[in-house]
Amino acid sequence: MAQGKTILILGGGIGGIVAASQLRRALSREHRVVLVEQAATHLFQPSLLWLMLGLRAPQQISRPYTALARRGIELLRGRVEHIDPARRVVTVDGKELTADYLVIALGAELAPDAVPGLAQAGHNLYSLAGAEAIRDARLTLTHGRIALLVSAMPFKCPAAPYEAAMLLEWDYRRRGLRDRVQIDLYSPEPGPMSVAGPEASAQVRAMVEQKGIGYHPQEKVASVDPGARRIHFESGVSADFDLLVYVPPHRAPESVRAAGLCGDSGWVKVDRATLATPFPGVYAIGDVTPSASRCPRPAYWRTGKPRWSRTTSPPKSPAPAR
Ligand SMILES: Cc1cc2nc3c(=O)[nH]c(=O)nc-3n(C[C@H](O)[C@H](O)[C@H](O)COP(=O)(O)OP(=O)(O)OC[C@H]3O[C@@H](n4cnc5c(N)ncnc54)[C@H](O)[C@@H]3O)c2cc1C
Repeated sequence: MAQGKTILILGGGIGGIVAASQLRRALSREHRVVLVEQAATHLFQPSLLWLMLGLRAPQQISRPYTALARRGIELLRGRVEHIDPARRVVTVDGKELTADYLVIALGAELAPDAVPGLAQAGHNLYSLAGAEAIRDARLTLTHGRIALLVSAMPFKCPAAPYEAAMLLEWDYRRRGLRDRVQIDLYSPEPGPMSVAGPEASAQVRAMVEQKGIGYHPQEKVASVDPGARRIHFESGVSADFDLLVYVPPHRAPESVRAAGLCGDSGWVKVDRATLATPFPGVYAIGDVTPSASRCPRPAYWRTGKPRWSRTTSPPKSPAPAR
C-alpha cells in the first residue's frame, strides 16, 4: 500500500495558498498538505492601493488562515528559519520538519534599509503600515511636492507605482487641491512596465503625463536625505519632496538565500514548465522566482478584461475566487 506523503508549503501568500488549495483538492487524504506561515492573517496586497486612499480598511483586505484548516490543509504558524533543500528539512521556530515534497512560496523580502535614508524619509507603498501612513499623510499635505520613487529592479507588480501615482492625482483632484500639489514619479526603469512591451509602455507613460504627473525614468536612487527631504540619484540629479512614497528594493528572503537556492539573478531558479528547483522534490512558486511567474497579466493586456481586480472584493477566504 502506498504511504502517505508530506507536502510542506513555505509561505501563505497568494502562491502558497493557491498551491496548498490545489494540492489538497488533487490529493487523497492519506497525504498531508502543511502550510507554514508566520502571519495570522493573509493580506491581499493589491488592495493596498485602495487602502492608501481610505477606500478600504485593513480588515477588508485581510482574511484569517483558519478557513484553510477547514478544507483539510494543516496550518503551522511560525517563522521559517532554515531550509536544507538537499534533505528537505525545514526549521520553523527552532523545530525541524521533514518533507517528502517542499514548495517554497516565501515571496520577496522588502529591503528599504538597502538605500541610505529611504526608510526614515518616506512611506513604503508595499507594506500595510506604509499604506496606512500614506493614507494619513495625504490628508495633512495640502500643498507641496509628492515624489513616488521606485528604488530598484526587479519589483513586484510593475503597474503598482504608476497606478499609485494616478490614484493620488485623482485623490487630490477630487478634493480640489490638485493645482497646489506637484506629483513626480522616479524609476530606474527605461519606461513604465517594459515587461508589457513598448506599445503598452508608451501608452502608460502617456496616461501618466496627460495627468500632469512628472515622469523621470532611468533614475536610480543612491540615497535619501530625510532632514533636507531630498532624493539623490546615481546620475547626480537630486529631487526635493514634501511627501515621499516609495517601492523598496526587493530581494529573496534570507532563509532562501542562505539555503543556496538562488541563482546568479539572486532569485530561485526553476524549470519554467514544472517549477522544480535543481533539488529533487523541491519546487518554488511566486515572487521568490520572478522569472517563472505565471500571473494573468499577458491575457489581461491582450483582452483588456482583467480576470480579477482590486475593485472587486477579495475572496471570502484566503483561497482564490473560483
Ligand atoms: C501594492 C501592490 C499591488 C499589487 N498589485 C498586483 C496586481 O494588480 N496584479 C498582480 O498580479 N499582482 C499584484 N501585486 C503583486 C502580488 O501581490 C504578488 O506578486 C503576490 O502576492 C506574490 O505572491 P507570493 O505568494 O509569491 O508572495 P507573498 O504574497 O508576498 O507571500 C509570501 C508569504 O510568505 C510569508 N513569509 C515570508 N517569510 C517567511 C518566513 N521566514 N517564515 C514564514 N512565513 C514567511 C509572508 O508572511 C507571506 O504571507 C501587487 C503587490 C503590491 C504590493
